Amino acid sequence: MAAPAPTGAPRALSAAHLPTAVARLCRALEGEEGGAAYVVGGAVRDLLLGRPTRDHDVATPLVPERVAEVLRRHGFDVVPTGVRFGTLTAVPAEGGAPVEVTTLRAEGGYRDRRHPERVVWTTDVATDLGRRDFTVNALAWRPFVAGPGPGDGVLVDPYGGRRDLARRRLRAVGEPEARLREDPLRVARLFRLAAELGFRPEAATARAARHAAPDLAYVARERVRDELDRLLLAPRLADVMADVARVLLPHAIPLWRELTAFEESRWRGSLTAAALVDRRLRVDHKPVDLHSVLTAALCPPRPVLRWAALLHDLGKPRTFARTPSGRVAFHGHEAVGAEMAREAMRDLRQPTRLTERVAALVAVHLWPWEEASAAGLRRLVRQLGEEGARDLLDLHRADVAASTPLGWPAYEAARKALEEAVAQTAAPGGRRLAVDGRDVMRVLGIRPGPRVGEVLRALGEVVLERPEENTRERLLLRLAERRWR
Ligand code: ATP
Ligand code: MG
Repeated sequence: MAAPAPTGAPRALSAAHLPTAVARLCRALEGEEGGAAYVVGGAVRDLLLGRPTRDHDVATPLVPERVAEVLRRHGFDVVPTGVRFGTLTAVPAEGGAPVEVTTLRAEGGYRDRRHPERVVWTTDVATDLGRRDFTVNALAWRPFVAGPGPGDGVLVDPYGGRRDLARRRLRAVGEPEARLREDPLRVARLFRLAAELGFRPEAATARAARHAAPDLAYVARERVRDELDRLLLAPRLADVMADVARVLLPHAIPLWRELTAFEESRWRGSLTAAALVDRRLRVDHKPVDLHSVLTAALCPPRPVLRWAALLHDLGKPRTFARTPSGRVAFHGHEAVGAEMAREAMRDLRQPTRLTERVAALVAVHLWPWEEASAAGLRRLVRQLGEEGARDLLDLHRADVAASTPLGWPAYEAARKALEEAVAQTAAPGGRRLAVDGRDVMRVLGIRPGPRVGEVLRALGEVVLERPEENTRERLLLRLAERRWR
Protein backbone atom coordinates (compact mmCIF):
# COMPACT_ATOMS: atom_id res chain seq x y z
CA MET A 1 0.00 0.00 0.00
CA ALA A 2 1.24 3.49 -0.83
CA ALA A 3 2.52 5.46 2.13
CA PRO A 4 -0.02 8.01 3.30
CA ALA A 5 0.65 11.44 1.91
CA PRO A 6 2.18 13.81 4.45
CA THR A 7 -0.20 16.13 6.22
CA GLY A 8 0.41 19.71 7.25
CA ALA A 9 2.23 22.29 5.23
CA PRO A 10 2.73 21.34 1.59
CA ARG A 11 6.27 21.00 0.36
CA ALA A 12 8.15 23.65 -1.52
CA LEU A 13 8.41 22.97 -5.24
CA SER A 14 11.86 22.32 -6.62
CA ALA A 15 12.90 22.16 -10.27
CA ALA A 16 15.34 19.44 -9.21
CA HIS A 17 12.32 17.12 -8.85
CA LEU A 18 11.43 17.39 -12.53
CA PRO A 19 12.62 14.69 -14.93
CA THR A 20 15.43 16.04 -17.14
CA ALA A 21 13.37 15.90 -20.31
CA VAL A 22 10.50 17.83 -18.72
CA ALA A 23 12.88 20.49 -17.43
CA ARG A 24 14.52 20.79 -20.86
CA LEU A 25 11.11 21.08 -22.52
CA CYS A 26 10.01 23.81 -20.12
CA ARG A 27 13.22 25.78 -20.68
CA ALA A 28 12.74 25.52 -24.44
CA LEU A 29 9.24 27.02 -24.19
CA GLU A 30 10.40 29.71 -21.74
CA GLY A 31 13.15 30.70 -24.17
CA GLU A 32 10.67 31.82 -26.83
CA GLU A 33 9.29 35.28 -27.37
CA GLY A 34 5.96 35.31 -25.46
CA GLY A 35 6.63 31.80 -24.24
CA ALA A 36 6.05 30.28 -20.81
CA ALA A 37 5.84 26.77 -19.44
CA TYR A 38 3.56 25.71 -16.59
CA VAL A 39 3.49 22.28 -15.06
CA VAL A 40 -0.22 21.72 -14.44
CA GLY A 41 -2.73 19.29 -13.01
CA GLY A 42 -1.93 16.15 -11.09
CA ALA A 43 1.84 16.59 -11.28
CA VAL A 44 1.85 19.80 -9.24
CA ARG A 45 -0.54 18.28 -6.73
CA ASP A 46 1.62 15.19 -6.36
CA LEU A 47 4.88 17.13 -6.14
CA LEU A 48 3.42 19.25 -3.35
CA LEU A 49 2.25 16.13 -1.56
CA GLY A 50 5.55 14.37 -2.06
CA ARG A 51 3.82 11.50 -3.88
CA PRO A 52 5.23 9.85 -6.99
CA THR A 53 4.10 11.65 -10.14
CA ARG A 54 2.36 9.64 -12.86
CA ASP A 55 2.93 12.02 -15.72
CA HIS A 56 3.83 15.64 -16.25
CA ASP A 57 1.40 17.80 -18.18
CA VAL A 58 2.73 21.11 -19.39
CA ALA A 59 0.63 24.12 -20.42
CA THR A 60 1.84 27.09 -22.43
CA PRO A 61 0.44 30.29 -23.95
CA LEU A 62 2.11 29.45 -27.29
CA VAL A 63 -0.28 28.18 -29.97
CA PRO A 64 0.04 24.52 -31.00
CA GLU A 65 1.85 25.23 -34.30
CA ARG A 66 4.48 27.25 -32.45
CA VAL A 67 4.83 24.60 -29.76
CA ALA A 68 5.42 21.93 -32.40
CA GLU A 69 8.00 24.03 -34.18
CA VAL A 70 9.89 24.97 -30.99
CA LEU A 71 9.98 21.47 -29.62
CA ARG A 72 11.11 19.91 -32.91
CA ARG A 73 13.89 22.45 -33.02
CA HIS A 74 14.95 21.24 -29.56
CA GLY A 75 15.09 17.62 -30.61
CA PHE A 76 11.69 16.35 -29.47
CA ASP A 77 9.51 14.18 -31.65
CA VAL A 78 6.10 15.79 -31.73
CA VAL A 79 2.92 13.76 -32.10
CA PRO A 80 -0.30 15.73 -32.68
CA THR A 81 -2.41 13.69 -30.25
CA GLY A 82 -5.17 16.25 -29.79
CA VAL A 83 -4.34 19.26 -31.95
CA ARG A 84 -7.95 20.30 -32.16
CA PHE A 85 -7.84 20.89 -28.40
CA GLY A 86 -4.31 22.18 -28.43
CA THR A 87 -2.60 19.05 -27.15
CA LEU A 88 0.67 17.69 -28.51
CA THR A 89 2.71 14.83 -27.18
CA ALA A 90 6.44 15.49 -27.02
CA VAL A 91 8.70 12.45 -27.11
CA PRO A 92 12.14 13.29 -25.73
CA ALA A 93 15.05 12.28 -27.95
CA GLU A 94 17.06 11.34 -24.84
CA GLY A 95 14.38 8.85 -23.77
CA GLY A 96 12.03 9.15 -20.83
CA ALA A 97 8.28 9.43 -20.64
CA PRO A 98 6.41 11.45 -23.29
CA VAL A 99 5.09 14.80 -22.09
CA GLU A 100 1.72 16.29 -23.04
CA VAL A 101 1.91 19.94 -23.91
CA THR A 102 -1.34 21.89 -24.15
CA THR A 103 -1.99 25.46 -25.19
CA LEU A 104 -3.82 27.42 -22.47
CA ARG A 105 -7.54 27.44 -23.15
CA ALA A 106 -10.27 29.87 -22.28
CA GLU A 107 -13.40 27.94 -22.99
CA GLY A 108 -14.76 25.09 -24.99
CA GLY A 109 -15.54 21.83 -23.39
CA TYR A 110 -13.00 19.87 -21.52
CA ARG A 111 -10.78 17.72 -23.73
CA ASP A 112 -12.89 14.62 -23.44
CA ARG A 113 -16.34 16.10 -23.44
CA ARG A 114 -18.81 14.49 -25.73
CA HIS A 115 -19.63 17.63 -27.65
CA PRO A 116 -16.65 19.90 -27.36
CA GLU A 117 -17.36 23.37 -28.52
CA ARG A 118 -14.88 25.46 -30.36
CA VAL A 119 -11.68 25.87 -28.40
CA VAL A 120 -10.44 29.37 -27.63
CA TRP A 121 -6.78 29.94 -26.69
CA THR A 122 -5.74 32.29 -23.94
CA THR A 123 -2.49 33.54 -22.45
CA ASP A 124 -3.98 33.74 -18.95
CA VAL A 125 -3.17 30.67 -16.93
CA ALA A 126 -5.84 31.36 -14.27
CA THR A 127 -8.49 31.19 -16.97
CA ASP A 128 -7.22 27.78 -18.02
CA LEU A 129 -7.19 26.57 -14.41
CA GLY A 130 -10.81 27.67 -14.06
CA ARG A 131 -11.95 24.89 -16.41
CA ARG A 132 -10.41 22.18 -14.29
CA ASP A 133 -12.30 19.85 -12.00
CA PHE A 134 -11.04 20.16 -8.41
CA THR A 135 -9.04 22.88 -6.73
CA VAL A 136 -6.15 20.54 -5.94
CA ASN A 137 -5.92 19.85 -9.68
CA ALA A 138 -6.19 23.53 -10.58
CA LEU A 139 -2.63 24.50 -9.68
CA ALA A 140 -0.01 25.65 -12.16
CA TRP A 141 3.69 25.88 -11.44
CA ARG A 142 6.05 27.86 -13.63
CA PRO A 143 9.39 26.41 -12.55
CA PHE A 144 11.85 28.48 -14.59
CA VAL A 145 11.10 32.09 -13.74
CA ALA A 146 12.36 34.00 -10.75
CA GLY A 147 9.81 33.77 -7.94
CA PRO A 148 9.22 35.25 -4.51
CA GLY A 149 8.70 32.11 -2.49
CA PRO A 150 10.97 29.53 -0.86
CA GLY A 151 10.64 27.06 -3.74
CA ASP A 152 11.59 27.44 -7.38
CA GLY A 153 9.56 29.54 -9.78
CA VAL A 154 5.99 30.71 -9.31
CA LEU A 155 2.95 28.75 -8.16
CA VAL A 156 -0.37 29.95 -9.56
CA ASP A 157 -3.23 29.02 -7.23
CA PRO A 158 -6.35 31.08 -7.93
CA TYR A 159 -8.84 28.63 -6.33
CA GLY A 160 -7.29 27.80 -2.97
CA GLY A 161 -5.87 24.49 -4.14
CA ARG A 162 -2.99 24.59 -1.71
CA ARG A 163 -5.26 25.17 1.26
CA ASP A 164 -7.42 22.22 0.18
CA LEU A 165 -4.31 20.08 -0.23
CA ALA A 166 -3.33 20.88 3.35
CA ARG A 167 -6.85 20.07 4.53
CA ARG A 168 -6.90 16.97 2.38
CA ARG A 169 -10.19 17.76 0.74
CA LEU A 170 -11.59 17.72 -2.78
CA ARG A 171 -13.56 20.78 -3.72
CA ALA A 172 -14.93 21.61 -7.14
CA VAL A 173 -13.52 24.64 -8.91
CA GLY A 174 -16.33 27.21 -8.99
CA GLU A 175 -19.93 26.27 -8.41
CA PRO A 176 -20.03 22.52 -7.60
CA GLU A 177 -23.51 21.72 -8.96
CA ALA A 178 -22.75 23.30 -12.33
CA ARG A 179 -19.23 21.90 -12.57
CA LEU A 180 -20.20 18.31 -11.88
CA ARG A 181 -23.16 18.42 -14.22
CA GLU A 182 -21.04 19.96 -16.95
CA ASP A 183 -18.98 16.79 -17.11
CA PRO A 184 -20.50 13.96 -15.01
CA LEU A 185 -17.30 11.96 -15.32
CA ARG A 186 -16.10 14.27 -12.55
CA VAL A 187 -18.34 12.28 -10.19
CA ALA A 188 -16.20 9.24 -10.86
CA ARG A 189 -13.00 11.31 -10.72
CA LEU A 190 -14.04 12.68 -7.34
CA PHE A 191 -14.24 9.26 -5.70
CA ARG A 192 -11.26 7.92 -7.62
CA LEU A 193 -9.10 10.81 -6.42
CA ALA A 194 -10.47 10.49 -2.88
CA ALA A 195 -9.50 6.80 -2.87
CA GLU A 196 -6.07 7.45 -4.37
CA LEU A 197 -5.12 10.42 -2.23
CA GLY A 198 -7.01 9.61 0.95
CA PHE A 199 -8.83 12.96 0.65
CA ARG A 200 -12.46 13.71 1.51
CA PRO A 201 -14.96 15.34 -0.80
CA GLU A 202 -16.07 18.62 0.75
CA ALA A 203 -19.80 18.77 1.60
CA ALA A 204 -21.13 20.88 -1.28
CA THR A 205 -19.04 18.93 -3.79
CA ALA A 206 -20.24 15.61 -2.37
CA ARG A 207 -23.85 16.82 -2.63
CA ALA A 208 -23.31 17.94 -6.22
CA ALA A 209 -21.85 14.53 -7.00
CA ARG A 210 -25.00 12.83 -5.72
CA HIS A 211 -27.11 15.07 -7.92
CA ALA A 212 -24.97 14.67 -11.05
CA ALA A 213 -24.36 10.93 -10.73
CA PRO A 214 -27.38 9.88 -12.86
CA ASP A 215 -25.86 11.82 -15.77
CA LEU A 216 -22.98 9.34 -15.85
CA ALA A 217 -25.27 7.41 -18.17
CA TYR A 218 -24.39 9.96 -20.88
CA VAL A 219 -20.63 9.60 -20.53
CA ALA A 220 -18.68 7.37 -22.92
CA ARG A 221 -18.37 3.93 -21.35
CA GLU A 222 -14.61 3.83 -21.97
CA ARG A 223 -14.05 6.94 -19.88
CA VAL A 224 -16.13 5.52 -17.05
CA ARG A 225 -14.24 2.25 -17.32
CA ASP A 226 -10.85 3.96 -17.08
CA GLU A 227 -11.89 5.76 -13.90
CA LEU A 228 -13.36 2.61 -12.35
CA ASP A 229 -10.19 0.67 -13.19
CA ARG A 230 -8.17 3.22 -11.27
CA LEU A 231 -10.66 3.54 -8.43
CA LEU A 232 -10.65 -0.20 -7.85
CA LEU A 233 -6.86 -0.28 -7.50
CA ALA A 234 -6.67 2.77 -5.24
CA PRO A 235 -5.13 2.19 -1.80
CA ARG A 236 -7.93 3.90 0.13
CA LEU A 237 -10.88 2.26 -1.63
CA ALA A 238 -12.37 1.11 1.69
CA ASP A 239 -12.59 4.72 2.89
CA VAL A 240 -15.00 5.65 0.12
CA MET A 241 -16.91 2.37 0.15
CA ALA A 242 -20.32 3.85 0.96
CA ASP A 243 -20.19 6.56 -1.69
CA VAL A 244 -18.84 4.15 -4.27
CA ALA A 245 -21.54 1.57 -3.54
CA ARG A 246 -24.47 3.96 -3.27
CA VAL A 247 -23.64 7.08 -5.27
CA LEU A 248 -21.25 6.08 -8.04
CA LEU A 249 -21.78 2.45 -9.00
CA PRO A 250 -25.58 2.52 -9.42
CA HIS A 251 -24.96 4.95 -12.28
CA ALA A 252 -21.62 3.66 -13.53
CA ILE A 253 -22.65 0.00 -13.78
CA PRO A 254 -26.33 -0.43 -14.69
CA LEU A 255 -26.57 -3.96 -13.26
CA TRP A 256 -25.31 -2.68 -9.91
CA ARG A 257 -28.70 -1.06 -9.40
CA GLU A 258 -30.10 -4.49 -8.62
CA LEU A 259 -27.89 -4.62 -5.54
CA THR A 260 -28.92 -1.12 -4.53
CA ALA A 261 -32.63 -1.84 -4.95
CA PHE A 262 -32.25 -5.10 -3.08
CA GLU A 263 -30.68 -3.42 -0.07
CA GLU A 264 -33.24 -0.65 -0.10
CA SER A 265 -36.11 -3.13 -0.09
CA ARG A 266 -34.57 -5.04 2.78
CA TRP A 267 -34.00 -2.06 4.97
CA ARG A 268 -37.38 -0.46 4.39
CA GLY A 269 -39.83 -1.07 7.24
CA SER A 270 -41.94 -4.10 6.46
CA LEU A 271 -45.49 -4.80 7.67
CA THR A 272 -45.79 -8.18 6.00
CA ALA A 273 -46.01 -11.53 7.71
CA ALA A 274 -42.29 -11.85 7.14
CA ALA A 275 -41.64 -8.81 9.31
CA LEU A 276 -40.21 -10.87 12.10
CA VAL A 277 -37.82 -12.68 9.85
CA ASP A 278 -36.86 -9.35 8.35
CA ARG A 279 -36.12 -7.95 11.74
CA ARG A 280 -33.80 -10.81 12.46
CA LEU A 281 -32.22 -10.29 9.06
CA ARG A 282 -31.51 -6.72 9.88
CA VAL A 283 -29.27 -7.89 12.62
CA ASP A 284 -27.15 -10.45 10.83
CA HIS A 285 -27.45 -9.35 7.25
CA LYS A 286 -24.46 -7.71 5.66
CA PRO A 287 -25.52 -5.23 2.98
CA VAL A 288 -24.36 -6.93 -0.18
CA ASP A 289 -23.46 -3.70 -2.00
CA LEU A 290 -21.11 -2.52 0.75
CA HIS A 291 -19.79 -6.02 1.23
CA SER A 292 -18.88 -6.22 -2.45
CA VAL A 293 -16.85 -3.01 -2.45
CA LEU A 294 -15.17 -3.97 0.81
CA THR A 295 -14.24 -7.38 -0.59
CA ALA A 296 -12.60 -5.65 -3.55
CA ALA A 297 -10.72 -3.33 -1.20
CA LEU A 298 -9.40 -6.30 0.77
CA CYS A 299 -8.07 -8.13 -2.30
CA PRO A 300 -4.48 -7.72 -3.50
CA PRO A 301 -4.52 -4.80 -5.96
CA ARG A 302 -4.77 -6.63 -9.26
CA PRO A 303 -7.47 -5.78 -11.80
CA VAL A 304 -8.84 -9.28 -12.31
CA LEU A 305 -9.19 -9.88 -8.58
CA ARG A 306 -10.67 -6.54 -7.70
CA TRP A 307 -13.19 -6.69 -10.52
CA ALA A 308 -14.17 -10.24 -9.62
CA ALA A 309 -14.54 -9.22 -5.97
CA LEU A 310 -16.64 -6.20 -6.84
CA LEU A 311 -19.02 -8.26 -8.96
CA HIS A 312 -18.95 -11.59 -7.13
CA ASP A 313 -22.38 -11.28 -5.49
CA LEU A 314 -24.18 -9.55 -8.35
CA GLY A 315 -26.45 -12.59 -8.72
CA LYS A 316 -27.79 -12.43 -5.17
CA PRO A 317 -30.90 -10.30 -5.71
CA ARG A 318 -32.11 -12.47 -8.60
CA THR A 319 -31.65 -15.69 -6.65
CA PHE A 320 -32.91 -14.49 -3.27
CA ALA A 321 -35.32 -16.93 -1.67
CA ARG A 322 -36.52 -17.99 1.74
CA THR A 323 -36.39 -21.63 2.67
CA PRO A 324 -39.51 -23.09 4.35
CA SER A 325 -37.80 -22.61 7.71
CA GLY A 326 -37.47 -18.90 6.98
CA ARG A 327 -33.78 -18.88 6.26
CA VAL A 328 -32.39 -16.80 3.47
CA ALA A 329 -30.78 -18.50 0.49
CA PHE A 330 -29.18 -17.43 -2.77
CA HIS A 331 -28.98 -20.73 -4.57
CA GLY A 332 -27.03 -20.55 -7.80
CA HIS A 333 -26.11 -16.92 -7.34
CA GLU A 334 -22.56 -17.64 -8.46
CA ALA A 335 -23.66 -18.91 -11.88
CA VAL A 336 -26.21 -16.15 -12.35
CA GLY A 337 -23.65 -13.66 -11.06
CA ALA A 338 -20.97 -14.87 -13.49
CA GLU A 339 -23.27 -14.15 -16.41
CA MET A 340 -24.16 -10.74 -14.99
CA ALA A 341 -20.49 -9.95 -14.33
CA ARG A 342 -19.70 -10.80 -17.94
CA GLU A 343 -22.48 -8.50 -19.10
CA ALA A 344 -21.32 -5.68 -16.82
CA MET A 345 -17.73 -5.99 -18.01
CA ARG A 346 -18.75 -6.09 -21.67
CA ASP A 347 -20.95 -3.08 -21.17
CA LEU A 348 -17.89 -1.23 -19.85
CA ARG A 349 -15.95 -2.28 -22.97
CA GLN A 350 -13.48 -4.22 -20.87
CA PRO A 351 -11.04 -6.46 -22.76
CA THR A 352 -12.41 -9.93 -23.42
CA ARG A 353 -9.60 -11.69 -21.61
CA LEU A 354 -10.15 -9.76 -18.40
CA THR A 355 -13.91 -10.20 -18.72
CA GLU A 356 -13.65 -13.96 -19.06
CA ARG A 357 -11.22 -14.33 -16.17
CA VAL A 358 -13.52 -12.28 -13.96
CA ALA A 359 -16.58 -14.30 -14.97
CA ALA A 360 -14.68 -17.55 -14.32
CA LEU A 361 -13.76 -16.45 -10.80
CA VAL A 362 -17.28 -15.30 -9.99
CA ALA A 363 -18.66 -18.61 -11.25
CA VAL A 364 -16.59 -20.63 -8.76
CA HIS A 365 -16.31 -18.19 -5.88
CA LEU A 366 -18.12 -20.59 -3.56
CA TRP A 367 -15.44 -23.22 -4.08
CA PRO A 368 -15.31 -25.36 -0.91
CA TRP A 369 -11.74 -24.74 0.20
CA GLU A 370 -12.28 -26.32 3.59
CA GLU A 371 -13.38 -29.67 2.17
CA ALA A 372 -11.19 -29.78 -0.91
CA SER A 373 -9.29 -32.97 -1.66
CA ALA A 374 -5.86 -32.95 -3.27
CA ALA A 375 -7.39 -34.22 -6.50
CA GLY A 376 -10.06 -31.56 -6.32
CA LEU A 377 -7.37 -28.90 -5.98
CA ARG A 378 -5.50 -30.27 -8.99
CA ARG A 379 -8.72 -30.19 -10.96
CA LEU A 380 -9.20 -26.58 -9.91
CA VAL A 381 -5.67 -25.72 -11.05
CA ARG A 382 -6.37 -27.37 -14.38
CA GLN A 383 -9.68 -25.55 -14.74
CA LEU A 384 -8.51 -22.04 -13.80
CA GLY A 385 -4.78 -22.25 -14.35
CA GLU A 386 -2.23 -21.61 -11.59
CA GLU A 387 -2.84 -17.89 -11.48
CA GLY A 388 -6.60 -18.30 -11.57
CA ALA A 389 -6.57 -20.77 -8.69
CA ARG A 390 -4.41 -18.45 -6.59
CA ASP A 391 -6.73 -15.58 -7.46
CA LEU A 392 -9.70 -17.63 -6.29
CA LEU A 393 -7.97 -18.29 -2.98
CA ASP A 394 -7.25 -14.58 -2.48
CA LEU A 395 -10.80 -13.74 -3.44
CA HIS A 396 -12.19 -16.16 -0.91
CA ARG A 397 -9.93 -14.81 1.78
CA ALA A 398 -11.10 -11.25 1.09
CA ASP A 399 -14.73 -12.37 0.91
CA VAL A 400 -14.47 -13.92 4.36
CA ALA A 401 -12.51 -11.00 5.78
CA ALA A 402 -15.20 -8.62 4.51
CA SER A 403 -17.86 -10.71 6.26
CA THR A 404 -16.37 -11.45 9.64
CA PRO A 405 -13.69 -9.83 11.73
CA LEU A 406 -12.42 -13.31 12.49
CA GLY A 407 -11.15 -13.71 8.96
CA TRP A 408 -10.27 -17.13 7.64
CA PRO A 409 -8.00 -19.02 10.03
CA ALA A 410 -7.60 -21.96 7.62
CA TYR A 411 -6.12 -19.71 4.92
CA GLU A 412 -2.52 -20.80 5.43
CA ALA A 413 -3.43 -24.46 5.25
CA ALA A 414 -5.48 -23.92 2.11
CA ARG A 415 -2.68 -21.96 0.50
CA LYS A 416 -0.19 -24.73 1.24
CA ALA A 417 -2.49 -27.37 -0.16
CA LEU A 418 -3.02 -25.30 -3.28
CA GLU A 419 0.71 -24.79 -3.81
CA GLU A 420 1.20 -28.54 -3.54
CA ALA A 421 -1.45 -29.09 -6.16
CA VAL A 422 0.20 -26.48 -8.37
CA ALA A 423 3.59 -28.17 -7.97
CA GLN A 424 2.14 -31.53 -8.89
CA THR A 425 0.27 -30.22 -11.87
CA ALA A 426 3.27 -28.28 -13.06
CA ALA A 427 5.89 -30.98 -12.37
CA PRO A 428 7.75 -32.19 -15.47
CA GLY A 429 5.38 -34.45 -17.31
CA GLY A 430 2.69 -33.46 -14.84
CA ARG A 431 0.66 -30.90 -16.69
CA ARG A 432 1.06 -32.61 -20.05
CA LEU A 433 0.17 -36.19 -20.46
CA ALA A 434 3.23 -38.42 -20.94
CA VAL A 435 1.59 -40.06 -23.99
CA ASP A 436 -0.07 -38.49 -27.00
CA GLY A 437 -2.64 -39.32 -29.67
CA ARG A 438 -0.16 -41.23 -31.79
CA ASP A 439 0.58 -43.55 -28.89
CA VAL A 440 -3.13 -44.13 -28.37
CA MET A 441 -3.69 -44.99 -32.04
CA ARG A 442 -0.67 -47.25 -32.20
CA VAL A 443 -1.32 -49.21 -29.03
CA LEU A 444 -5.06 -49.52 -29.54
CA GLY A 445 -4.70 -50.02 -33.30
CA ILE A 446 -7.31 -47.35 -34.12
CA ARG A 447 -7.48 -44.54 -36.69
CA PRO A 448 -7.70 -40.82 -36.02
CA GLY A 449 -11.14 -39.85 -34.72
CA PRO A 450 -13.06 -38.76 -31.64
CA ARG A 451 -12.20 -41.96 -29.85
CA VAL A 452 -8.55 -40.87 -29.57
CA GLY A 453 -9.54 -37.71 -27.73
CA GLU A 454 -11.87 -39.62 -25.44
CA VAL A 455 -9.10 -41.98 -24.39
CA LEU A 456 -6.67 -39.10 -23.83
CA ARG A 457 -9.20 -37.30 -21.67
CA ALA A 458 -9.83 -40.43 -19.65
CA LEU A 459 -6.09 -40.82 -19.09
CA GLY A 460 -5.99 -37.16 -18.08
CA GLU A 461 -8.55 -37.87 -15.38
CA VAL A 462 -6.49 -40.79 -14.17
CA VAL A 463 -3.32 -38.73 -13.71
CA LEU A 464 -5.25 -35.92 -12.12
CA GLU A 465 -6.25 -38.31 -9.35
CA ARG A 466 -2.85 -40.03 -9.29
CA PRO A 467 -0.04 -37.84 -10.64
CA GLU A 468 2.50 -40.64 -10.12
CA GLU A 469 0.83 -42.53 -12.99
CA ASN A 470 1.93 -39.91 -15.48
CA THR A 471 5.00 -41.61 -16.88
CA ARG A 472 5.29 -42.97 -20.38
CA GLU A 473 5.75 -46.56 -19.23
CA ARG A 474 2.78 -46.57 -16.84
CA LEU A 475 0.47 -45.00 -19.39
CA LEU A 476 1.52 -47.27 -22.26
CA LEU A 477 0.88 -50.20 -19.94
CA ARG A 478 -2.57 -48.81 -19.10
CA LEU A 479 -3.31 -48.39 -22.80
CA ALA A 480 -2.21 -51.93 -23.54
CA GLU A 481 -4.39 -53.20 -20.69
CA ARG A 482 -7.19 -50.78 -21.55
CA ARG A 483 -7.20 -49.51 -17.97
CA TRP A 484 -8.26 -45.89 -18.10
CA ARG A 485 -11.63 -45.94 -16.49
P1 ATP B 1 -3.10 11.57 -12.38
O1 ATP B 1 -2.00 11.97 -11.50
O2 ATP B 1 -3.79 10.37 -11.94
O3 ATP B 1 -2.76 11.59 -13.83
P2 ATP B 1 -4.47 13.90 -12.92
O4 ATP B 1 -5.14 14.84 -11.97
O5 ATP B 1 -3.24 14.35 -13.62
O6 ATP B 1 -4.22 12.63 -12.11
P3 ATP B 1 -5.49 13.48 -15.53
O7 ATP B 1 -6.64 12.65 -15.98
O8 ATP B 1 -4.13 13.16 -16.01
O9 ATP B 1 -5.55 13.43 -13.95
O10 ATP B 1 -5.85 14.98 -15.87
C1 ATP B 1 -4.89 16.02 -15.81
C2 ATP B 1 -5.54 17.29 -15.31
O11 ATP B 1 -6.56 17.68 -16.22
C3 ATP B 1 -6.26 17.16 -13.98
O12 ATP B 1 -5.39 17.38 -12.90
C4 ATP B 1 -7.30 18.22 -14.07
O13 ATP B 1 -6.74 19.48 -13.82
C5 ATP B 1 -7.68 18.18 -15.52
N1 ATP B 1 -8.81 17.31 -15.82
C6 ATP B 1 -8.78 16.02 -16.21
N2 ATP B 1 -10.00 15.54 -16.44
C7 ATP B 1 -10.85 16.54 -16.20
C8 ATP B 1 -12.27 16.70 -16.28
N3 ATP B 1 -13.05 15.70 -16.63
N4 ATP B 1 -12.78 17.91 -15.97
C9 ATP B 1 -11.99 18.94 -15.62
N5 ATP B 1 -10.68 18.87 -15.52
C10 ATP B 1 -10.09 17.69 -15.81
MG1 MG C 1 -2.06 13.33 -15.07
